[in-house]
Amino acid sequence: ATAGKVIKCKAAVAWEAGKPLSMEEVEVAPPQAMEVRVKILFTSLCHTDVYFWEAKGQTPMFPRIFGHEAGGIVESVGEGVTELAPGDHVLPVFTGECKECPHCKSAESNMCDLLRINTDRGVMIGDGKSRFSIDGKPIYHFVGTSTFSEYTVMHVGCVAKINPEAPLDKVCVLSCGISTGLGASINVAKPPKGSTVAIFGLGAVGLAAAEGARIAGASRIIGVDLNASRFEEARKFGCTEFVNPKDHTKPVQQVLAEMTNGGVDRSVECTGNVNAMIQAFECVHDGWGVAVLVGVPHKDAEFKTHPMNFLNERTLKGTFFGNFKPRTDLPNVVEMYMRKELEVEKFITHSVPFSEINKAFDLMAKGEGIRCIIRMEN
Ligand code: NAD
Ligand code: ZN
Repeated sequence: ATAGKVIKCKAAVAWEAGKPLSMEEVEVAPPQAMEVRVKILFTSLCHTDVYFWEAKGQTPMFPRIFGHEAGGIVESVGEGVTELAPGDHVLPVFTGECKECPHCKSAESNMCDLLRINTDRGVMIGDGKSRFSIDGKPIYHFVGTSTFSEYTVMHVGCVAKINPEAPLDKVCVLSCGISTGLGASINVAKPPKGSTVAIFGLGAVGLAAAEGARIAGASRIIGVDLNASRFEEARKFGCTEFVNPKDHTKPVQQVLAEMTNGGVDRSVECTGNVNAMIQAFECVHDGWGVAVLVGVPHKDAEFKTHPMNFLNERTLKGTFFGNFKPRTDLPNVVEMYMRKELEVEKFITHSVPFSEINKAFDLMAKGEGIRCIIRMEN
């Protein structure tokens, strides 16, 4: 009944950097060619939303509707959309898959030419316009998803169709953080059985990377975090040992090298801090060590290390979305959960109604809990 019409609904709008989101009635235009309009049922907060909302180390763009980790149901589809229909259960993804470009055709890449993550674009790719407005004034989108709204419009390539039996209040966290960490370990770091892995940053992404390392068969998983309150909980995600850089006068690289007879076999960085990125690289064993960067850095950050660290046969990699292809692979990650090979409940520590979305920001600022689910309907 709403197809083809403007929908008025509630959205949490960021008017200014770092100011609490404000609940507004927004108008959501119908989806254009190759777009879908989705009713969001559950969303959660990932640290990437916070960086761009704070806009301290990132390009400011306001007013904007943030949010990219979510689950919902297709309300209507635009012209040319054949793979999705109203009623389909979907997870939005901040980076897309057009299925036609050289990257999408490569088995190795998920960096789609058309739809790869672009944090500085606040409009739709098709016509360069926003689908959100208040009194005729446009509100910017965020990473093609903008899920802090009861309805949102996305390019069909940024939407994964999933098993309708999967509970959206749980699997919504697979749409960014958990899949990113899991994939960074199992698809990119690929720790051999019995190996030692260091995980920098024990938020949802890092804990999922620890879980991935355990699934891959690593036997020692060393969690590194500046916040010691994360350590106890991290045991549930496979971490066997912990290092708090604040407890040492020596560089963390050296602490880890001493614990592991020369360095860890793999490391996965999930902090966004460039110093942690450098440490994660320099702590891997020479000859075979591989480090994987996942955190989103400050826009002016520079990675500095001595070239000899590479000559000594250490490898540095980076990844978006754990190297998963959003449309092709995400439905299978959901199936891993359905087969009980992957637990997502333990990542969900808090839940608030949409009207209290700012509480989720407070929790993340305090470093409390892992993921806070925001319920759109009650
Ligand atoms: P989070 O805030 O929940 O967790 C980050 C953790 O890192 C915190 O526990 C914090 O104490 C710790 N930390 C910060 N600086 C540190 C340092 N110098 N040394 C050790 N620990 C440190 O965040 P999250 O939602 O888990 O996201 C983690 C990172 O991953 C963020 O940078 C986010 O933007 C990024 N991210 C990247 C992708 C991708 O596809 N590459 C996807 C999602 C999130
Ligand atoms: Zn593509």
